[in-house]
Amino acid sequence: MLELSQLREVDVPPLDAGRLRSLIGQERYDRLVTAAQRTRAYLQGGTVWSVNSTAAGGGVAEMLRVLVGYARGLGLSARWLVMSAEAPFFSVTKRLHNRLHGAPGDDGPLGAAEALVYESVTAANAAAMSSQVRAGDVVLLHDPQTAGMVGPLKDAGVTVLWRCHIGSDTTNRWTEEAWGFLRPHLVGCDGFVFTRPAYVPGWVDGERVAIIPPSIDPFSPKNQDLPAASCRSILATLGVVDGPRGADARFTRRDGSEGAVTRRAAMVADGPLDADARLVVQVSRWDRLKDMPGVMTGFSDVVAGRSDAQLALVGPAVADVADDPEGGDVLRQCVDLWDGLPPSRRRRIRLITLPMDDIDENAAMVNALQRHASLVVQKSLAEGFGLTVAEAMWKSKAVVASAVGGIVDQVAPGTGVLLDDPTDLLAFGESLVTLLDHPEEVAQMGGNARRHVVDCFVGDEHLLRYSELIERVHKS
Ligand code: UDP
Repeated sequence: MLELSQLREVDVPPLDAGRLRSLIGQERYDRLVTAAQRTRAYLQGGTVWSVNSTAAGGGVAEMLRVLVGYARGLGLSARWLVMSAEAPFFSVTKRLHNRLHGAPGDDGPLGAAEALVYESVTAANAAAMSSQVRAGDVVLLHDPQTAGMVGPLKDAGVTVLWRCHIGSDTTNRWTEEAWGFLRPHLVGCDGFVFTRPAYVPGWVDGERVAIIPPSIDPFSPKNQDLPAASCRSILATLGVVDGPRGADARFTRRDGSEGAVTRRAAMVADGPLDADARLVVQVSRWDRLKDMPGVMTGFSDVVAGRSDAQLALVGPAVADVADDPEGGDVLRQCVDLWDGLPPSRRRRIRLITLPMDDIDENAAMVNALQRHASLVVQKSLAEGFGLTVAEAMWKSKAVVASAVGGIVDQVAPGTGVLLDDPTDLLAFGESLVTLLDHPEEVAQMGGNARRHVVDCFVGDEHLLRYSELIERVHKS
């Protein structure tokens, strides 16, 4: 049996929600503070626990760092645990992940043997956690990895919410199979959170559902303002662009102290890119559904011959994302594809993996890359939400992205380009060429994009909706 010490607690420094005020205005800020007071009163000293399966890499970890931080800053007892599991479990849960997106993934089974692996790991994690929680606590479980913890934690007397960050707008045999696997574990769950109404399975009681889109923190190292010179310095330090490493590869850490980017990125490339040429960037985990190979092919076939632009495909170092077993394969596929390109195309394209040893430093690297970009791309084949889109839009970037899942909610008219068919590489490439030819229009889209993010995807709204759900399910 696992001890709680094996469910790793992520140390999250409290964040001062007051800093949001300048951005969201007094009224929204006051609503947030009032909601936090109500939730504190409801919980009567209880803790809100968040549980997921990785401390780094991917949108869930990104958001937990922020939301747990703000909740703590608002005086709530909030803690974040990362479950303990190994490769066989993550093969099963990656299969579930792909299938909830409507894709077969590795084509493997989800039968009795997989259920056994899944249940033994989730039961052990729940048992380890049960001794630590108290009646009146709320446990917010994230994604398929944690669904098996619902029942045992309910038995421990806590309120259990399950949030699914993934989903598909339509159902097919793969989504049905994944939900068939998960459903028995979710019986009795007090509340559910989904990103979009279309993601809610028909059998979930609508009274217990909240629709909550993800959000970004404009002040985190991932999103904080960085002068152009710092971005260049950071990228030069990484080895991504040419130029002096300089002294200004700096950023502000989550705890308020000053940080510096010192590590280099691992790159598949012939040396650094030209710092003065325009850059197109996609930042993603190395996941099939993010379609990094499609981005490379579309860029190489359509864009490279018609503009001076360069492409950076950026993801985390694959060994550092514990719950994503496909990362190595996808990166290898990209490298093979890159190797097969004509040298004139290869010179314009880089595959970049960013070290994750220091999460704040990694975030600053992503920040600098997105800010340095002329255009940001998110050409996913399926997407729960796609936090990278909001991150880029906040940085006043026009985004060229697939019209799938939550991306559609982000790329509002006049803020970027939505691709109706993510597999249409010609249309994708043409969109990039058109935007690269119209920088003024792109700048205007960028301004609209930033405003849209402030209106819809900053953490105050996210926390408010959590607070409403907690109140609702505590009452029932
Ligand atoms: N990300 C990161 N470092 C990387 C690659 C990605 O911090 O090297 C972050 C990215 O900035 C975003 C998150 O991982 O915050 C990805 O979230 P998204 O919702 O786009 O996709 P997910 O990975 O959750 O499917």
